[in-house]
Amino acid sequence: MRPALLNPLFAEVTSLKGVGAALAKPLERLGLERVKDVLFHLPTGHLDRWPREELDQGDVGRTIAITVRAVDYWLSHGRGPSRVLATDKRGNYVSLTFFGGASGYVKKLYPLGEPKRISGRLEQYGQELQIIHPDIEGEEGFREREAIYPLSEGITSRRLAQLAGQAIGRAPDLPEWIEPGLKAARGWPDWHDAVARVHADPADAKARERLGYDEVFANQLAMMLVRADTRRRKGRALNGDGRLRDMLKLPYSLTGAQARTVREIEGDLVQTAPMLRLLQGDVGSGKTLVATLALLIAVEAGAQGAMLAPTEILARQHFDTLQRTLAGLPVNVAALTGRDKGRAREATLMGLADGSIDILVGTHAIFQEAVGYKDLGLVVVDEQHRFGVAERLMLANKGVTTPHLLAMTATPIPRTLTLAQYGEMDVSKLDEMPPGRKPIETRVISEDRLDEVVNALGRHMSEGGQAYWVCPLVEESEKIDLAAAEARAAALQERFGERVGLVHGRMKPAEKDAVMTAFAGGRLSVLVATTVIEVGVDVPNATLIVIEAADRFGLAQLHQLRGRVGRGGGLSRCLLIRGSAMSETTRARLALMRETNDGFRIAEEDLRLRGGGELLGTRQSGEVGFKLAPPEMLGDLLECAHDDTRLLIDRDGGLEGERGQAARVALYLFDRDAGVQLLRSG
Ligand code: ADP
Ligand code: MG
Repeated sequence: MRPALLNPLFAEVTSLKGVGAALAKPLERLGLERVKDVLFHLPTGHLDRWPREELDQGDVGRTIAITVRAVDYWLSHGRGPSRVLATDKRGNYVSLTFFGGASGYVKKLYPLGEPKRISGRLEQYGQELQIIHPDIEGEEGFREREAIYPLSEGITSRRLAQLAGQAIGRAPDLPEWIEPGLKAARGWPDWHDAVARVHADPADAKARERLGYDEVFANQLAMMLVRADTRRRKGRALNGDGRLRDMLKLPYSLTGAQARTVREIEGDLVQTAPMLRLLQGDVGSGKTLVATLALLIAVEAGAQGAMLAPTEILARQHFDTLQRTLAGLPVNVAALTGRDKGRAREATLMGLADGSIDILVGTHAIFQEAVGYKDLGLVVVDEQHRFGVAERLMLANKGVTTPHLLAMTATPIPRTLTLAQYGEMDVSKLDEMPPGRKPIETRVISEDRLDEVVNALGRHMSEGGQAYWVCPLVEESEKIDLAAAEARAAALQERFGERVGLVHGRMKPAEKDAVMTAFAGGRLSVLVATTVIEVGVDVPNATLIVIEAADRFGLAQLHQLRGRVGRGGGLSRCLLIRGSAMSETTRARLALMRETNDGFRIAEEDLRLRGGGELLGTRQSGEVGFKLAPPEMLGDLLECAHDDTRLLIDRDGGLEGERGQAARVALYLFDRDAGVQLLRSG
């Protein structure tokens, strides 16, 4: 059970003062459901309010704080804005502007002649100075330095700061799980101190480090527990006799790396200890075929295999590929996703239970409770960034024995990050591309030259080519991004007509599929897409990809996106559109994309480039599954946590001692408590 002292942190956000239905929505969009989520929603920077005695044109564009008195009103009774004319102590004028016909309320806020301390961005409006919707010192007063939070529509940084304040007030002191020597050497504060400090000053490095470490520590510890547990569990040896693999008719021979990897997997499968292997291979290196061969080994041995894909579209695609590759073999392949309902679903469940289905491909649905296998021997997980402890437990409960696990990833992450994401797995690398692959020619182009890009797209289409056009999606304002993508699609449709399609994350799955199918079938020539995930398809004739606002993507992401082209035999091109102003780091990062197609090099360099103090939001560390750990410190924190958790487990494997108990608290705090369940059952 969860330690009682954590209860206040696990309460719903609606238990915070002032959070009603109106705020719950934007909070939910930010993923803030419990008090602890608010606590861990960290500011990314701060806003300085410049205290001023007098209004000054030179301050236009700055956020100032100043005392003014109202001298006159223009109140709107219709749709236009209401204005309060106010003066500073010298009699200089400023117009305070309010939209949304709030006339009565405005008068109450600013009684004539009364001094009010206000703050906001000073703007020039014709001859006048103005401030739109100024903050007013009072109940919800402002401070000279305020934290800025990642936002969603309908909530402000001030509101979030205020909620964080409440959350900090409710947060208990927690027992220390960090090894005392390490904590002292690093100069890290206590946990409670650390959360309070990060919200007060986002630049507080020690406090941030500590919280990042906590997160990494909990994750690492859970992984260690899973590993220890897997080692204890009994799996079943899968001895494939080769009869199915011999029947395969491939149009090509395996690359050396594929053959080696299959041998490594085969070596694992004949053991009774369940396999825990990670297959890393750049986009296009041929992981699917390796997975197929592994699944065939399981079937040869009389067991079933399952393949998990992160999205509906990828699941369908894997299903098609498997069916095509295994055509003519006595192997029954089925698909199951969240969309399968009713009789078809029932039939699949039956086939799994009676063993007539040999291989199942699908999304998370394939591990739902209702899905029972006759004899699940091997699970392949494709591109699942979050295949963590909970999923592994689910898996462990799926068979009489624990199935073997093969995880596959194209995310070319450095070794330390691999450790974090996948724990202590054995690693196979596909470090050799299938022959005949042509490199992708990459160019970086300024957004001022978008016309030329559209012209190039036109030429590409008239030569019969297909293309992706990717618009960025920034979580803070999904709506605006979506609107931008729609506008882009509309503009391209205006020029190229019906052959331009749009796919985005808000579409219904069936609509999405229809567009994807049209693109894959060649009925659409251009696919405008917002989300990266949805473009994870294999369309060899698509040999051009345009990526808008490329500077807003992580490099690993860009590399993944670029991997959508270069799948056919011909030469492929990638056009990275950048903003007109660029920092040095951005310039270097994009130049790297132009120089190399080597995913591993890109990953290493990216990590190095990011080291230079560029303050990153949650997004990029989010790519590897962490919210709090600063990406540029991740490597260091991971190594540390790796050693620390190992020592802890060696000394106190049951987490019974004082530090062990504290470590349990950390597991709960970061939702890694599945690890604690392992202690129980072990
Ligand atoms: P990824 O590793 O990105 O999942 P895929 O498995 O989709 O890559 O393979 C990419 C393409 O390479 C596919 O079209 C596949 O048929 C082809 N391919 C895989 N192995 C080989 C090989 N040994 N020789 C030639 N082509 C191959
Ligand atoms: Mg793949």
